[in-house]
Amino acid sequence: MTQARLASCIPLPLEHKLLVSVIEKAKDWALMHGVGMRDRKNFTKDSIQIAPFVLLPSPFPRTEFTKAVELQPVLNELMHKVAHDDEFLTCTLENALQVDEFTANLFDIWVKVRDEGMAQNLSLGLFRSDYLMQNPDGNSIKQVEFNTVASSFGALAAYLPDMTRYILRQLGQPELIKNMPANLALSGLCSGITEAYDLFGVPRAVILFVVEEVSYNICDQRFHEFEISEKRPEIMIYRRTLTEIYDETTLNDKKQLILDGHPVAVVYYRSGYEPAQYPSAKEWDARLRVERSTAIKCPSIHYQLAGTKKVQQALAAPGVLEKFMGAGAATGRVRDIFTGLYSLDFDENGERAVDMALADAERFVLKPQREGGGNNLYGSDVREALLRMRHSRERAAYILMERILPPLVAGYVVRPGAAVPPPLTDLVSELGIFGVIIGTKDKIYCNRQAGHMLRTKLADANEGGVAAGLGALDSPYLLDL
Ligand code: ADP
Ligand code: MG
Repeated sequence: MTQARLASCIPLPLEHKLLVSVIEKAKDWALMHGVGMRDRKNFTKDSIQIAPFVLLPSPFPRTEFTKAVELQPVLNELMHKVAHDDEFLTCTLENALQVDEFTANLFDIWVKVRDEGMAQNLSLGLFRSDYLMQNPDGNSIKQVEFNTVASSFGALAAYLPDMTRYILRQLGQPELIKNMPANLALSGLCSGITEAYDLFGVPRAVILFVVEEVSYNICDQRFHEFEISEKRPEIMIYRRTLTEIYDETTLNDKKQLILDGHPVAVVYYRSGYEPAQYPSAKEWDARLRVERSTAIKCPSIHYQLAGTKKVQQALAAPGVLEKFMGAGAATGRVRDIFTGLYSLDFDENGERAVDMALADAERFVLKPQREGGGNNLYGSDVREALLRMRHSRERAAYILMERILPPLVAGYVVRPGAAVPPPLTDLVSELGIFGVIIGTKDKIYCNRQAGHMLRTKLADANEGGVAAGLGALDSPYLLDL
């Protein structure tokens, strides 16, 4: 099958000398405005290097962009309802839990705090729904996944368009800037955190960011801290690893989480979504302590469970969206963004899915219950894994998803340490729409869309994680097709 192609915003290639000169300008802009990351190879806290980025904004159909933006509050609410439906979460995750220790550990914490009686009924969600364009059927967006934990790049995605606008001006194309949508992701996400803080309503309370031992994606975290500090100078923000939380926090008799003598109002997890972030029982104990506390968690443990791939697959099964959303037009709009999602449980449907994937493995992606990139299987690996797992309970921890084939666009990816100029290459883009929601089971206090991000990768790469070094940050250039 040949992939469709979208035209770049200006004719490419650029003339060599001009290209070299604008890349130099773009790199300096990026460095001087914090579109950066720490160097994995030569780590030092004294410097950042550029985050990989695409030199020019990548085309994205305006109608599909608008559709994704408009759907975000609908999806936020859907996920909120899913997270508060105990029976649905339990049934959906049941089989996966038996073979997936990590998800089982999260689930056990949820059951424990729920049975004890939740000390905090409010949840804060800083979500991101990710999409690829599907062709050839009319270039419509299909959801890749819905992130409920540590949804990243809100800060960098909010800054990058200014660099791209600068580059378009330097190329004598300022009239193109009108097709670049405003992106208020950083302020939108941070105001979610401060709204939750205000709902907590305890004087001198603090905000806690749960971070990895080493934060390579430091700009994308610190900008949140700077933004909150500027808007709300009275609020102190702490950064702690789960190990440090184990050592340094306590629960008082009111179940407040106490750090450095202060009650914690909001706990924002930028770590805690993958097994390596819990190297020992201490980190799990720390997680349990936080979940037991009155702090408002972003995400709460049930939000995190609602963001599993297994839940995504279950939502696509017949009648499930209707159960949560009724039979109205919004349900149809959500169903339209789903691509084929199949359970691999040991039942008739699961067997059918295995046969279907073995017959044409290239059409599918095999996904375990993991976040953070690099865990999925593609092509011949799908076949190999299914042949190996066919009769093993292990397969219930995976879902099968139809592979989305996005349109190609030519572009230049600028990477730290790479030769300049880079070659003109075929790329594909993945759009992420951020959403903020705060609520209890019965009441939603805020629910809105909050900016976007575009991540672009080489067309022949399976995955495009920016932090993992595969993808590049990008900005959408809206096309009226
Ligand atoms: P993770 O939680 O690891 O980010 P994702 O579901 O987002 O898992 O998958 C990681 C990446 O793999 C995506 O960003 C996308 O590039 C690619 N990918 C995932 N699902 C599909 C799919 N159905 N079709 C094509 N590419 C996909
Ligand atoms: Mg993802």
